[in-house]
Amino acid sequence: MHRAASLAEEVYDAIFARLMALKIPPGARITVDNLVRELAVSQTPIREALGRLEGEGLVVKTHLVGYSAAPQITRRRFEELYELRLLLEPEMAGRAAARMTDAALAELTAAAGVMSRSGGIDERARYSQFARQDAVFHDQILGVAGNEMVRETLAHQHTHFHIFRLMFHARVTEEALDEHEAILAAFAARDADAARRAMRLHIERSRDRLLPAFEQ
Ligand SMILES: [Zn+2]
Repeated sequence: MHRAASLAEEVYDAIFARLMALKIPPGARITVDNLVRELAVSQTPIREALGRLEGEGLVVKTHLVGYSAAPQITRRRFEELYELRLLLEPEMAGRAAARMTDAALAELTAAAGVMSRSGGIDERARYSQFARQDAVFHDQILGVAGNEMVRETLAHQHTHFHIFRLMFHARVTEEALDEHEAILAAFAARDADAARRAMRLHIERSRDRLLPAFEQ
């Protein structure tokens, strides 16, 4: 039972990493048989993983065609997404600072700490891990802020998975870590204004780091 669960998880992680590192490019067909060969597992965990990835917006299932990687986000959609984030997340960060408990701060610090700077594992695996952890970090802040509708709205956009597929670059992670630390410092000081500013700056910089992806 435990083995089956960990196998399913491993298969999911392997396909997730391929999608995030663009080894399966946006829009590309995903053939179950190919994955069976590549990963040397049966169809069951692969279909399970693809179903989960479909729920996360990374995979699209089309009737009679099968699975493909979700298309790359368009520039217009990207700009709308960042506008939405800038409208919501700084305000929510301010609210989170005012409501911050020691326990919540410890959880956020732990979430940020998981996104470690030092490598060890290969860069692309680290990158896909970072994308996931960044999603958790931002979602936890919205959880502390306490507006479930805002939290659900942003969760449904699968923001992080889409934006991290735009560009594979160490700078994307290194700079974001410093910005997360500034957000955590504002939370530690229970300083709502500083938290708003730090979150705004983080999202604006994230947007500016990724924009060049549309100019290639
Ligand atoms: Zn972030």
